[in-house]
Amino acid sequence: MTARITLVRGDITEQHVDAIVNAANSSLLGGGGVDGAIHRKGGPEILADCRALRASHYGKGLSTGKAVATTAGRLDALHVIHTVGPVFSKEEDRSDLLASCYRESLRVARELGAESVAFPAISTGIYGWPMEDGARIAIRTVREAAIAPIAEVRFVLFDERAYQAFAEQLG
Ligand code: ADP
Repeated sequence: MTARITLVRGDITEQHVDAIVNAANSSLLGGGGVDGAIHRKGGPEILADCRALRASHYGKGLSTGKAVATTAGRLDALHVIHTVGPVFSKEEDRSDLLASCYRESLRVARELGAESVAFPAISTGIYGWPMEDGARIAIRTVREAAIAPIAEVRFVLFDERAYQAFAEQLG
């Protein structure tokens, strides 16, 4: 089955989906951008789950390109899937790590039985990835991924430029 890929311009914390993906950092303890917004709006339960992960399997934090789920707290979703995007580098091609964020998040979503998943444009904010290339990697990776039972993969783009970049790639 191929999931429907949809694009919306908006705030990821306002999406009603089974799983919301967080552009987290490896500490799992919060940060700026999407991460800050998710913890602010989702409330302390998400951070409590993140702390529990740090105290158990993720003592050193979550590696770049990996994904792990927690509660969604007060968000209108069942789960938050935290993934750590790579910081953009001109010297080193880290595209595989960015693709891995999308693949691993989808793998976790499928394990959870999620039917709808919302993604931000991972790494394109504080981590500096050029938007057009980030959009290309995101759309290509989701198209190539094994998806069932996920019926909808929604990209939530914060501004018009991001929306246009994703629309261009979706064709
Ligand atoms: P990263 O550290 O992976 O770069 P950021 O959270 O800084 O993550 O940004 C990722 C992308 O998400 C950027 O394009 C940014 O503009 C966008 N963004 C920031 N806040 C939100 C939000 N509340 N909803 C959706 N997208 C957001």
